Amino acid sequence: MFNIKYFSEHEVFIDNVRKLCEKEFLPHLRSWESNDNFPNSVFETLGKQGYLGILIPEEFGGIGADYKLAGAWCETFGEIPDVGLSIAVNMHSLVISHSLAMSGTQIAKEKWLPDAVIGKKIGAYAFTEPDAGSDLSGILTRAQKKGSKWIINGAKTFITNGARADFCLVFTKTKWDKKPYEYTTFVVDTKLKGFNISRKLDKLGWRTSDTAELSFKDLEVDESCILGEIGTGWKLAMNNLNWERLMLTLSSLGSAKTCFRETLNYANERKAFGKSIYNFGVIKDILHEMYTRIKQGEALAYHSLDELCEKKDCKIPVALTKRKVCEDAIWIADRAIQIHGGYGYTKEFHPEKWWRDLRLMTIGGGTSEIMGNVVAKEWGLI
Ligand SMILES: Cc1cc2nc3c(=O)[nH]c(=O)nc-3n(C[C@H](O)[C@H](O)[C@H](O)COP(=O)(O)OP(=O)(O)OC[C@H]3O[C@@H](n4cnc5c(N)ncnc54)[C@H](O)[C@@H]3O)c2cc1C
Repeated sequence: MFNIKYFSEHEVFIDNVRKLCEKEFLPHLRSWESNDNFPNSVFETLGKQGYLGILIPEEFGGIGADYKLAGAWCETFGEIPDVGLSIAVNMHSLVISHSLAMSGTQIAKEKWLPDAVIGKKIGAYAFTEPDAGSDLSGILTRAQKKGSKWIINGAKTFITNGARADFCLVFTKTKWDKKPYEYTTFVVDTKLKGFNISRKLDKLGWRTSDTAELSFKDLEVDESCILGEIGTGWKLAMNNLNWERLMLTLSSLGSAKTCFRETLNYANERKAFGKSIYNFGVIKDILHEMYTRIKQGEALAYHSLDELCEKKDCKIPVALTKRKVCEDAIWIADRAIQIHGGYGYTKEFHPEKWWRDLRLMTIGGGTSEIMGNVVAKEWGLI
């Protein structure tokens, strides 16, 4: 039905991920959602099978694979009807641990990565602030040098894994008195004095994923916690964004495909006026449009992933792809509710959950409007 050739070299891997999800996670998703939390054992279960170390070098316990395998993981893991859980895991393993592996000091990598890969220590990524989301240049969190230490003060919000994290990448300003400002990211031990979890946020979807507000009061870190060098934080953040956006996109694609399959089955099984509702032209038309959008999404996403794997500048294709695929995934979930009728509005079927969870994908990691701006910049319009 869908393009199974693209990831064909990873067929066994994909099959194993599906089997693991079916056995270990699917039976518990509803109860985890009722508790507004999934247990940390999810990380350990995945860590034991090696799934948290896809992009981590072997010397730290990972498998040192490429973005193609990571892409196969994202799409397959995205099939589980809990986008909050799948992205919380991916942020930890494919974005945070990966950033640390690429830019952390040897001391920091040895301290965090071996435990991150087995799911014993969990990471978060703190960029957004109460008054600076899309416009990250407006952050107020500052790190000031004092002797051989750096002292961090400020606040962050909407941080995935923020309440459960053992380590956190904190994006700061290290020069703020005059432009050009300088930005630096530090990896911070969340047990340190001065690292505070202000509160957990209540949300429409992603309910099993913890989303926290954090604050830092005279949080003291040393030079081994710097990612890259002082002043390189902006460049590092922008370099990592393409992959983060593609991770979110491929995951949404996996979710949209599953939502479509479930809806197609439902339309075949559900009878009205003596026939399957699939036979009504209007229903068939919606299903055809869903399928078309998924096929377009595959073409865009796989093209962007190829560009990334070939180390090409893929900022524009990734921005276009994220915008298109994530917007379409929400549309697909919305139409899935419609085709399920009253049942679509209940928790007995997945569409309501897909809809609530996928709604975030056009906001997190750069909104659809910001993705549009990336392209407009290319046109020389802003
Ligand atoms: C559940 C959840 C998990 C998250 N996880 C993390 C995380 O782990 N780490 C982290 O750092 N952040 C995280 N975020 C934050 C997320 O990345 C931001 O919400 C997002 O970047 C948007 O920023 P904002 O919310 O401040 O919106 P704003 O920047 O205030 O935007 C508000 C609206 O204005 C529009 N807008 C803003 N600027 C422009 C412009 N120049 N042109 C056109 N339109 C514009 C936006 O598109 C949007 O529609 C998370 C958010 C949520 C809700």
